[in-house]
Parts: sequence; structure tokens; C-alpha cells
Amino acid sequence: MLRYRRNWLAVVLIVAAVGVTMMFTVSVDENTGTPWKFYTDMDTLDSCRMGMLTVLADTIDVHTSAIGEGFLGGAVRDLGISGGQYLSTCGILMDSLGWTVQRAGDTLSAIYCHDQLSELRAYPRNRRGFYRICYTDGSPVDWEYVPQERWVRQRAISCEISTTVWDALWETALPEDLTESGILVNSRDSSRAVGYISELQRALTDRLFVYDIDFYYDVKVGDKLWIFIEENRYPVDGETGFRRILAAKYQFAYGGIAEAFPFFHRPEESDSAEIILDHYHRDGASLRTMFLKMPVPFGRVSSGYTDARMHPVLGYTRAHRGIDYAAPMGTEIYAVGDGVITLRGWSGGYGNMVRIRHANGYETGYGHMSNFASGQSVGSFVHQGEIIGYIGTTGLSTGPHVHFEMKRNGSYVNPATEIMPPADPLEGEELERFLAEMSVIEAQWSMLTGTDLPVPQEEPEAETQESVE
Ligand SMILES: [Zn+2]
Repeated sequence: MLRYRRNWLAVVLIVAAVGVTMMFTVSVDENTGTPWKFYTDMDTLDSCRMGMLTVLADTIDVHTSAIGEGFLGGAVRDLGISGGQYLSTCGILMDSLGWTVQRAGDTLSAIYCHDQLSELRAYPRNRRGFYRICYTDGSPVDWEYVPQERWVRQRAISCEISTTVWDALWETALPEDLTESGILVNSRDSSRAVGYISELQRALTDRLFVYDIDFYYDVKVGDKLWIFIEENRYPVDGETGFRRILAAKYQFAYGGIAEAFPFFHRPEESDSAEIILDHYHRDGASLRTMFLKMPVPFGRVSSGYTDARMHPVLGYTRAHRGIDYAAPMGTEIYAVGDGVITLRGWSGGYGNMVRIRHANGYETGYGHMSNFASGQSVGSFVHQGEIIGYIGTTGLSTGPHVHFEMKRNGSYVNPATEIMPPADPLEGEELERFLAEMSVIEAQWSMLTGTDLPVPQEEPEAETQESVE
């Protein structure tokens, strides 16, 4: 299946490259995209087949229920699902399919054949696909997220910053159906247009350039941004949606270029079938990451992150907005990223605590310390990996551990999902595949923009190394 998908991706890339070469032998407008191509995948075909089989069965019953505010369990019960089936169904929706945020108005459908539950579909209100669980003899045997059929195209966006990145994207990056038809959008208030630009900006600031560019302080008038993206169009409503960034370049007015190339791969050492998305420089080196994975050199997670929300299965509220790492008394605690100390002292239940303000609206906190590192105070700048204190059990604590928490723009976030560990540099076959894909992408990208895109100047050392090869 994986091999199939990988080959399939390669075929699509080649077909797309040939298509673009034939269509755009003359230069085109800056922000024009390639023609729409029909996109479907095996999951969708499989889903049609299953749908047919269900339709052919002689006794079918479909039960539907809507989800109330934040509570999945009640809606599942309303479908007539109970006992072990109830627990496994909720568990799969939450843990395996990752459907952790339900909203009022999301719906569930249960398909019964001969009075036996055969399939459950969960439709999130604001998404085009659905979650599906298949049952055999009443037990769940297969589950997946099924995206809706869609068309896909590539588009190149070029802009110069005159105020903010948001304004620059707003002026140049909106797809045609949100700008020219006049049917959907005439004002800035359009939620679709705002949604489109937010997603695009978030992909740039939170993933691709999270470490390389501080979007609060580094951005200057005259900076230039090039983005090569993929968009979806849904046949049902004809709406265009942002899909993903294929490559991006940011040129600073005072000199220097940051680049990012997302690349899907499967790390060799991993046994799992998981395909991972990492971001690389053009030589296949991983982009640096903003934060260390954890604030202690070694430690065991003694308590994970949970939001204050009604647990859908257990039905009670429990919140722990941080991660506890248990480690021996006196173990060093590191700053997970560069930043400025904003608090260093006693802080109620946290005991001895340090808080650090980082770039891009991030803040981290470290509680229950036995001692602080010497020579630091509020206002000190600390580097990633610098010792800021030592493991203790001060404040409301039952044993030696550090309570590690993270905020983004003032709201708690889960460090485990927020922190992307740096990937190893690509090597061998993976590096070859990355370089091949990158050259196809860059060729398409230049053709669509109608100019040569800027490339970072190589440093003298890098040149020497290349001449050796
Ligand atoms: Zn804690």
C-alpha cells in the first residue's frame, strides 16, 4: 500500500510537471495556478465499494444523531450503541482517529444490517470528509478518515511586505473564486477568505519558518515572500481551499534567504508504516526547531497534558495543562528555547518557578524547582539548552519532578504536540528522492512565476565541499 502510494505520488509529480511544461511555455501572471486536476484516492474508491455492498444488503437501518456541546458519548448512545461496543467506538473515534474536538452540530450515522451494527460514520460540521468505523460481528475491525473527492492544483504566490505578512498575503494570495467572481467575497469580513489566509500564514509561521524567522521582530518592509502551494477544489460546492505548502522562500530586505521544503518520508529505523512530514533545507539538512522536546536530559513523563473538558467516556472534568517529568533531585533543568526570563521565584502551588518568554508569542514555565541556576535574574537572556534550575519538589508536589508548561499568545498549549523534534538529515536513497522531487517542484514553480527564483548564496566552506565531490 505504501509503495503504491509513493509510486502514485511520483506519477502525479511527473504528470504534473509535463502538464505544466506544455501549458506554460510563455510567461504567466504572478499568481495564476495550474489547471485543476481530479484527485481521488484508494480509500475513497474503497468507501464507494463498501457503500454499494451496504446498499445491496436486504435489511438496512440508518440511525442518525447530533452531537451536543462537546459530548460525544451521548450521541453514540443515541444510536443504540452500548456496553463494550460503546467504549470501543468512543475510544477509536478519539484515540485512533484523533477526533478530539467535537462541536455542536457534528453528526453521527450508524448503519445496521440485519440489526447488526456494520458501520459508523461521524461527520464533523466544518470538514468535508468523515470518520468511518467498520464492524464485523459487532466488533470494530477497520477505521479511517475518508476525505471527500476533490480537485487539486498548484499555485505560485509572490509578494513583497509593505506592512505585515498577513496584509501581503491578503493582497496577493487569495484564490480567484474568493476575489474575482464577486459572489463569495466583497469584504474583508468573509470568513472563508480569512480562514484561507489564516491557514496559509499558520503553515508558514508555525511550521516552515518557526525557528528561522521571528515573525514578530524580523519582518521588515521590503522583505519578499515566495510560496508554492497546492489547493483543493471541491466539486460539490466549487469552493477553493488551501491544502499545503510545497515550498517557500523568504528573502530579507537586509540580505539573506530562508527556505523550506516539506518532504514526506518514512525514517529507515522506524518499524511502523507511518509516513512523516519533515521540513528541510535544499541540501536535505533538517530545519532547526525552536524548542527542545523536554526540559530535562532524561526523565519520565509522570503526568501528561489534559485540557479542562468533559471526558467523553468517563464524563468528568480533569485538567493538567502541562507535562510532569519525574527525575532525581538535583537534575538540571534546561531552557527549551532561546528567550528572556520573565519570572524567577516562588509562585504558589508551582513552588520555585522560572518562566521564559520566547519568539513568536511562546512562553514556557518550569515549576517545583529545588534551586535556581546562579547568575540569572528576571530579564536575563538564556539560550536553548542552558541550565535554569534543578529538579525539586517545592510547592504542591508529591515527589521530585518538573512541571513543564507552554503558552502560545497567552493560551495553554500541549508541549507534546506543539514541539516538533528536529529530523535527521536525509541520506542515501531518501536524499536522492528529495533532491529529485525538489528539482521538479522548483522547475514548476519558476515556470508559474515566470522568473528565476532566488537561491541562497552558498557559504565558502560549502563550495569547497562540493568541489571535492
Ligand atoms: Zn504538573
